[in-house]
Amino acid sequence: MTPPHIHDSVAPESDADVIIIGAGISGSAAAKALHDQGKSVLIVEGNDRIGGRTWTEPEGAPGGPIDNGGMFIGDTHKHLIELGTSLGLEMTPSGKPGDDLYVVQGEVLRAPNEQLDPSLPFVPEYLASLEALDELADSVGWEHPWDSAHAAELDSKTVATWIAETFEHEEVRRLHTVLVNTFLGADPYDVSLLYWAYYVSECEGTKCLMGTRDGAQWAWWFGGAAQVSWRIADAIGREKILLEWPVDRVEQDDSGVTVFSGQRSLRARHVVIAMSPLASNQIRFTPALPTSRAQLQARSPMGRYYKVQARYPSAFWVKQGTSGALLDTDDVGVFLLDGTKPTDTLATLIGFIGGSNYDRWAGRTEQERKSAFLDLLVKSFGPQAAEPSYFHETDWTEQEWAKGGPVTYMPPGVMSHFGAALRDPIGRIHFAGTEASLQWSGYMEGGVRAGQNAAAAIVETLDATTRKEALL
Ligand SMILES: Cc1cc2nc3c(=O)[nH]c(=O)nc-3n(C[C@H](O)[C@H](O)[C@H](O)COP(=O)(O)OP(=O)(O)OC[C@H]3O[C@@H](n4cnc5c(N)ncnc54)[C@H](O)[C@@H]3O)c2cc1C
Repeated sequence: MTPPHIHDSVAPESDADVIIIGAGISGSAAAKALHDQGKSVLIVEGNDRIGGRTWTEPEGAPGGPIDNGGMFIGDTHKHLIELGTSLGLEMTPSGKPGDDLYVVQGEVLRAPNEQLDPSLPFVPEYLASLEALDELADSVGWEHPWDSAHAAELDSKTVATWIAETFEHEEVRRLHTVLVNTFLGADPYDVSLLYWAYYVSECEGTKCLMGTRDGAQWAWWFGGAAQVSWRIADAIGREKILLEWPVDRVEQDDSGVTVFSGQRSLRARHVVIAMSPLASNQIRFTPALPTSRAQLQARSPMGRYYKVQARYPSAFWVKQGTSGALLDTDDVGVFLLDGTKPTDTLATLIGFIGGSNYDRWAGRTEQERKSAFLDLLVKSFGPQAAEPSYFHETDWTEQEWAKGGPVTYMPPGVMSHFGAALRDPIGRIHFAGTEASLQWSGYMEGGVRAGQNAAAAIVETLDATTRKEALL
């Protein structure tokens, strides 16, 4: 399946019940839910493609379709799985048999059954540290983390302070650093401890978050993740999606909302902002947003992130009894996973590099980055890793509309003061985007949930209005 080619064929003066700003998976899920309920929708999208942080190129690389963005489906991502399956997509498990690897202070350590050798001096503290993080996450929860008992205290310190205060072994400190780098694209010194604890909680704990063959990294769609949005575009009608239509202004009044892109405008009864808080901060709202939402948007950055992919004639690492999963806490600071689907003709290793590792990486030339990455693979998997058939990197900070990746993070002082504004509608303005989801915020699943929630709230309001009008 190829991405739909969509034309700007709807006249600017066209009305709809709902305008959705953003054709990522969240806006697409909202559009489908509204369309299925008989509401008219238009999606306006700044980019020249749909999918947002899911970005599949069906023929973009030798060996099979390539996903430059979100890709892994978790075993509890029920809304995503149900939506994708209803659109005719099929899943394939992602995990490979074999030992995971850890690279810690120059040594490559094997972890059979995902377990590091407990006799290594730092391992007992590492295992206890994950339990401590889970306990902290449980104490914060995911529904109203800003109201949790120690919210203000936890939000006054960074994850870096917590790591330094709590753990003795340098290896444990480094492992926690790379976890934050990997899952938020940020560094522990960037991130509020309250936000990190909330993130772990809303992703069902460290085991689920970090699983290399279950949990959040359980499966993929054959053909790529952006197909969810492409198929929704087909289902609702491609003419309902206006590409290269970047919204710069939203005006709300008593009877509706007008959405502007330069000189162009569209009007609807409700609008869904289906993007990250940072992306929505580029839009001017009239009347001005309440302080809490405005501050949330102004103070919630996106991570900084490289996704690196190396493809080889065969998955030689599997033949060596390794799964391809690797966590490097040394020079590269990468989380690596096998990304080979049964339909691919080349085998893929995928690396994620974020936070201060991103900063160091970005300061190198393309050739230096490639050499450093391949050197790590050679050290871990042997000389066959030296010559990939294909090498590709996506720098998400260069993506104009995403403004970073993989997700939003919050520095100290934001979640406890302004977190509640993530989800609350403001009159006819509704917030979707993965960040607005109660759970799996930061993931495709969260995008689907937030989109469907916004759609359900709008349907309720529209139907109530219709009933009221019928009585008059
Ligand atoms: C490298 C990477 C790896 C990831 N890996 C995974 C993974 O394995 N599994 C997983 O579940 N998740 C993963 N994620 C996260 C996942 O991709 C996102 O959580 C999800 O796609 C977010 O969807 P969304 O619709 O909420 O937001 P987005 O996809 O960001 O959609 C927002 C849309 O709004 C558009 N837009 C922005 N500003 C404007 C404007 N002013 N006017 C009009 N349109 C605008 C954007 O172009 C975009 O299309 C990853 C992300 C990245 C970057």
